[in-house]
Amino acid sequence: MKSVKENLIDINSQICNSSKESAFETTPQVIVVTKYVTIDRAIEAYQAGLKNFGENRIEGFLEKKKHLPDDAVMHFIGSLQTRKVKEIINEIDYLHALDRIKLAKEIDKRANHVVKCFVQVNVSGEESKHGISPEEVIPFIKELETFKHIEIVGLMTMAPLTEDKSKLRQYFNQLRTIKDKVQLLNLAYAPCTELSMGMSNDFNEAILEGASYVRIGTKLVGE
Ligand SMILES: *Cc1c(COP(=O)(O)O)cnc(C)c1O
Repeated sequence: MKSVKENLIDINSQICNSSKESAFETTPQVIVVTKYVTIDRAIEAYQAGLKNFGENRIEGFLEKKKHLPDDAVMHFIGSLQTRKVKEIINEIDYLHALDRIKLAKEIDKRANHVVKCFVQVNVSGEESKHGISPEEVIPFIKELETFKHIEIVGLMTMAPLTEDKSKLRQYFNQLRTIKDKVQLLNLAYAPCTELSMGMSNDFNEAILEGASYVRIGTKLVGE
């Protein structure tokens, strides 16, 4: 198995190339997704210089957080059950999968700080995917106005598994277009400047469309 450092050198050079090629002046932050790997491997990632960590299950999240240094930034990237919010919300730096009002209400009730959230959008319309439909994004965000503990920092999506690069770019482009529309609303609680998109198989396409956070597991730390 390659070291995280070796993998990171390769990923960073791809990111650098895609960022240069991209029309958007963003070099994305890398969130290393550690959901498949051990605590030791996560610590290796930290020592290789990665500071943003992503987990999609409560148990794994809390365990990794406990063992990583305090300056690790913890991203919860999975769907969160409403009844589990109280167990974890005050441990989260960024939540990537806000997708329903009921969840927002529970977060607002349980959080003791302003939680930075991404609204998850299902750009492909695949039924198996979480997230709200593109047309619902603006009405959804408008409904969040009264929630004091929620800040919408951006939008997140997962593209379908496909080798078709132009299709992938279309999905990511679509997310960016919606993000731009939300930004134009000028809502204090929803600056919506960020795009969380791109995983091991499609981060280059996401960067070409302006990703500001890529979430990479397999190609950085292994399966
Ligand atoms: C697992 C996961 C990733 C990382 O996937 P890889 O293909 O291993 O890079 C990214 N985002 C979310 C939401 C995930 O659940």
